[in-house]
Amino acid sequence: MRFPDKLYLAELDPNERIENFAEVTRSVTLSQVQQEAARCLSCKSKPCSTNCPIHTKIPEIIRLIKNNSLKEATLLLLKDNPLPAITGRVCPQERYCEGNCVLAKNSISFGAIERFLGDKLLLESTISPEELKPKELSSKKISVAIIGSGPAGLSSAFFLTLNGAEVAVFEALDKVGGVLRYGIPEFRLPKMILDLQISFLEELGVQFFTSCRIEKEDLEKLVEEFDYIIMATGAGLPRLIDIPGINSPRVITANELLFRVNYMEAYKFPEKLTPVKRPASELRDKVHAVVVGAGNTAMDAARVLRRLGYKVIVAYRRSISESRARYAEITHAMEEGVKFKEYVVPVKVSSTNDPIHPLKITLAKTKVEGKKVITLEKTETLYASLMVLAIGSRRNFIEGTRDWIKDFSTKTTQSRIFAAGDIIRGAATVIEAVADGKRCAEQVLER
Ligand code: SF4
Ligand code: SF4
Repeated sequence: MRFPDKLYLAELDPNERIENFAEVTRSVTLSQVQQEAARCLSCKSKPCSTNCPIHTKIPEIIRLIKNNSLKEATLLLLKDNPLPAITGRVCPQERYCEGNCVLAKNSISFGAIERFLGDKLLLESTISPEELKPKELSSKKISVAIIGSGPAGLSSAFFLTLNGAEVAVFEALDKVGGVLRYGIPEFRLPKMILDLQISFLEELGVQFFTSCRIEKEDLEKLVEEFDYIIMATGAGLPRLIDIPGINSPRVITANELLFRVNYMEAYKFPEKLTPVKRPASELRDKVHAVVVGAGNTAMDAARVLRRLGYKVIVAYRRSISESRARYAEITHAMEEGVKFKEYVVPVKVSSTNDPIHPLKITLAKTKVEGKKVITLEKTETLYASLMVLAIGSRRNFIEGTRDWIKDFSTKTTQSRIFAAGDIIRGAATVIEAVADGKRCAEQVLER
């Protein structure tokens, strides 16, 4: 449902979308941003800001936009948010800033405004990295090694570098970005925006070292070489379920699917020949794939599968209204033809002789009692070519460091070692990881 006063991003037609991986939403124009800013009431209590995980100074930024001071608005945005072009695209604004705006359903579309300023920064270089650096730095020069280049690591790197620290980011894979690159599809976050964001950080002075997998003994060396360490290794280990038939090669995890498509660029088929299961062109929209789970990763997997040519059913053990996925992603998935089956859970996978649908998936009905989901005896069957598990992820601990981590705390049991992002809280939103990264940087700088 759309509300008359609120600013909405223009979107590609759903029939066009499922033919390619182009970004679905379009950025707004300056005049749209100015019109949206004019609606803001500059509330003293600023619930929009209080409910943003990094407390973006929303009314103050909007006031600068009203005064046509776009550069100052961007500078103020960057005081709290190192990745506005990214968070403007992927934040669940309905849960944070916009969901708490006093204008309720006609809330100010701050996500769109943030994306506009972030894109201008990266695409038009409205501010040079040099301009961001404070004129006076503390006399003590510190060195910090950050392990992991996802949103938490990038956030820490930004704030530390701005404050004069020497920062080296170590990434296990051969490209920088972590979950921003391998988890989020091109149609939600174009790689070009991520690459520009990383170039901006490099220009600021952050050093990135790729293909550097840090094991316990490497960590010991880093402790000798650097003043501080930040572990930001994320949560990329997929959760699995133990049911008969789950080891079928036609059951894969969303992490594997998204990694192949996003990171290994299977979405550029036939230019890139990364192997990924997809229906033959004559069977497009005739072959079923079932996605289990209904969070953001499940929505990404379902929408990727639609673009690969599958008919997609999302099977969820609760009601879709209880999903933690971003509202826009659920809506987009529905528009793109993804179907939802609520209150079901897979209990068995077996094979059939049907060459198109060789998987028989037995789903048990469920009922929800409070926080508990109860599996009932009644079952139903789905036939599919592929089943994709998107039921959550576990944390990527460097071996031997699990006991150092205190859940939800950026401090560890080791005095010079910190931790940020999904490693301390399990898989969460990009902006929560950015907030942790910022908090971690502040704690390092306070030492
Ligand atoms: Fe809203 Fe996210 Fe920006 Fe905060 S960072 S103001 S939650 S879009
Ligand atoms: Fe503006 Fe809404 Fe924030 Fe009030 S709550 S300052 S109207 S964005």
